[in-house]
Amino acid sequence: MIKAKAIAAQCVTSGLAPYSFDRRDPKEHDVVIDIKYCGICHSDIHQVKNEWGHSMYPMVPGHEIAGVVRSVGAKVTKYKVGDHVGVGCFVDSCRTCSSCQATMDNYCLEGMTQTYNGMERDGKTMTQGGYSDVIVVDENYVLRIPNSIPLDKAAPLLCAGVTLYSPLTHWKAGPNKKVGIIGMGGLGHMGVKIAAALGAEVTVLSHSDKKREDALQMGAHNFVVAKDPKNLQKYASYFDLIINTVSSAEIDMHQFFGLLKLDATLVAIGAPDKPYAINPFPLIMMRRNYAGSVIGSIKETQEMLDFCAKHNITPEIEVIAPDYVNQAYERVLKSDVRYRFVIDMAKI
Ligand code: NAP
Ligand code: ZN
Ligand code: ZN
Repeated sequence: MIKAKAIAAQCVTSGLAPYSFDRRDPKEHDVVIDIKYCGICHSDIHQVKNEWGHSMYPMVPGHEIAGVVRSVGAKVTKYKVGDHVGVGCFVDSCRTCSSCQATMDNYCLEGMTQTYNGMERDGKTMTQGGYSDVIVVDENYVLRIPNSIPLDKAAPLLCAGVTLYSPLTHWKAGPNKKVGIIGMGGLGHMGVKIAAALGAEVTVLSHSDKKREDALQMGAHNFVVAKDPKNLQKYASYFDLIINTVSSAEIDMHQFFGLLKLDATLVAIGAPDKPYAINPFPLIMMRRNYAGSVIGSIKETQEMLDFCAKHNITPEIEVIAPDYVNQAYERVLKSDVRYRFVIDMAKI
């Protein structure tokens, strides 16, 4: 067994505190990774607080993992000691279903194995995530981090980056396409940078005016305070694609559907604790689509990392020590982060 130091939630109300546990001994195809940095995704907060209703404790959150290969199993061919690598939201899948066979392992029909708050495929071992100093992962679920991206800035790409890259490329954001991003947090700000690099016209739909300058600097062409319906009037039937990254259900979906062109699509990404009320009329009247998307496949994640390296795209981050995580969670809940907290795991 490999000793791991971590921070974990012991129950729904405990907050996060130091914790030690064992990782499995590496199997033939496993890579042992010294974790250097781990991003804080809003999904970590939803799960620590059991807002999705299936949390298991003790829980070591973290699925934006960047580190260095410590050792490899006998049959590992893709990685060697010292390589810069990442791990995202899942660490295994069935590998045989139609989704897995089509390299869409994030849509595994048997369910992907979540990096934490999940069960290994043996059905007995709980998975534990990246707020720790070491992890053991099958090489097929490990990503290569290009050398030009520093590890602290690479970490948020493993969830926030690919979660926006996947729908933006699937729905063909690019030149002559108008893309709206609702909510400019950790995910949303990556959406702005990636959509702009793909050549789309990008509009941020935010609930306050606070992030206007940042958005324009990141490549957005327009910034709209969506809280005031008057500001949305000129964007009626305007967008080819809108991506909703808001973490709260307290938004009026009805007003955003009306901003889509005929046949255009609004993609649900934000995963709030409560359902939305949906009025179907704006969908009906312009044959608009309402879709969803979950993270991205391993193949897309590697593509996204290479795309970000090529286009010099990195997230805006605030690096923190592990003992600041509880305060960081409070700040994320107040939208008081520019734009992703990243934990320095060397300080564990
Ligand atoms: P985040 O950094 O907290 O960003 C969320 C943003 O939503 C905020 O910055 C804010 O943007 C907006 N917002 C928050 N509260 C709001 C409210 N009451 N009314 C209106 N707008 C509000 O969170 P994140 O890490 O980007 O994650 C966003 C959501 O995506 C979470 O629910 C997370 O669980 C989910 N997620 C989904 C996937 C997937 O695969 N589908 C993957 C990862 C995360 P403005 O200040 O610009 O308004
Ligand atoms: Zn995430
Ligand atoms: Zn599968």
